[in-house]
Amino acid sequence: MRVLVTGGAGFLGSHLCDLLIREGNEVIAMDNLITGNPDNIQHHFGNPKFKFVHHDITEFMYVEGELDGILHFASPASPIDYLELPIQTLKVGALGTHNALGLAKKKGARFILASSSEVYGDPLIHPQEESYWGNVNPIGPRGVYDEAKRFAEAMVMAYHRAHGVDTGIVRIFNTYGSRMRSIDGRVVPTFITQALRGDPLTIFGDGSQTRSFCFVDDLVRGIYKMLLSREKNPVNIGNPTEMTISEFAQSVLELTESNSTITYKDLPQDDPKVRQPDIRRAKEVLDWEPGVQLRDGLAQTVEYFRQLKK
Ligand code: UDP
Repeated sequence: MRVLVTGGAGFLGSHLCDLLIREGNEVIAMDNLITGNPDNIQHHFGNPKFKFVHHDITEFMYVEGELDGILHFASPASPIDYLELPIQTLKVGALGTHNALGLAKKKGARFILASSSEVYGDPLIHPQEESYWGNVNPIGPRGVYDEAKRFAEAMVMAYHRAHGVDTGIVRIFNTYGSRMRSIDGRVVPTFITQALRGDPLTIFGDGSQTRSFCFVDDLVRGIYKMLLSREKNPVNIGNPTEMTISEFAQSVLELTESNSTITYKDLPQDDPKVRQPDIRRAKEVLDWEPGVQLRDGLAQTVEYFRQLKK
C-alpha cells in the first residue's frame, strides 16, 4: 500500500510510519512540526519508500500519485498543548479533517481518523463503550480538543454517507512510549522525567482519578488492523487495565528506583474522573487486544527517557 500519515512526525504518527515501513508499505509523512519532531522519523530519511512533506494540513493539501490509505493523526494531543494552541487544535480537527477527507475521496483511499477517548468527556458510564455519546463541556478549556474530535467524527461519517468514502474511526485511549516529549505535560513523560531527575512527582488533585494506559506498540498494531479492515463504526483502542494516578505514580517511582517525593497541585478544569476502554468491539471486529503489561512497556519507556538525558 501507499499510505499518507498526517502528523507523521508526532508520537503516534512516527510509530505508525515505522510499522507501515516494516510491513513493506510506502509512506508519506506530513507534518507542520508544531508539536511533531523530525528526529522521530529521521531513521527513514534516504529510504526510497519514505517521504516527508512539511505542510500544515489546515491549508489545501495535495499528494502526487496513488494513495491506498490515509491515517489522519495530525493534532496537538496533550492537554497543555491544546490549551496553548486552542485555535490550531480546532482548525486541524475541522479544516484539516475536511482537507484530508477530500484527498481520500479523490484518491479512493481508505481513511482512518485518530479520534479519542476525549469524545466521552468526563464520562457518566464506566467503562466507556462506543455506543456512549459522552459528557463534554463545549466551552471549557478542554472543549477545543474534545469538540474538534467530535466534529471530525461527524465529518468522517458525512463523507462516508454522502460520498461513499471508505472510512474508519479509532477512539484512542491514553497511550505511552518512546518519542513522547518530556515537556509535553502528559502524565507518563512528566512523571518519568521528574522521577529520573529526583524532582517531586506532581499529582493533580488527590490522585484518585483513573486512567488506563496502553503501550504504543500495541496501539499501532490495532490501528494497522483497522486500516486493513472495512470497519466503518468507531472502535475503542486502548488497554483496559485501569489504575488511579496515585497508583501510577507509585509504579513510576518503583521502576525508576527514584527517591522523588510527591507534591499535589490543583486538578485542571474538566479533568475526567475515570477512564477505561471497553474493548469488546476491537476484539470482535479487529481480533485485537493489547499484550504488553504496564511494567514492561513502562520499563522500555523509562529507558528511552534515560537515553534522552545523556
Ligand atoms: N496528571 C497529573 N500530573 C501531571 C500530569 C497529569 O496528576 O503532571 C493527571 C491529569 O490531571 C489526569 C491524568 O494525570 O488526571 C492524565 O493526564 P494526561 O495529561 O496524561 O492526559 P488526559 O488523560 O487527561 O488526557
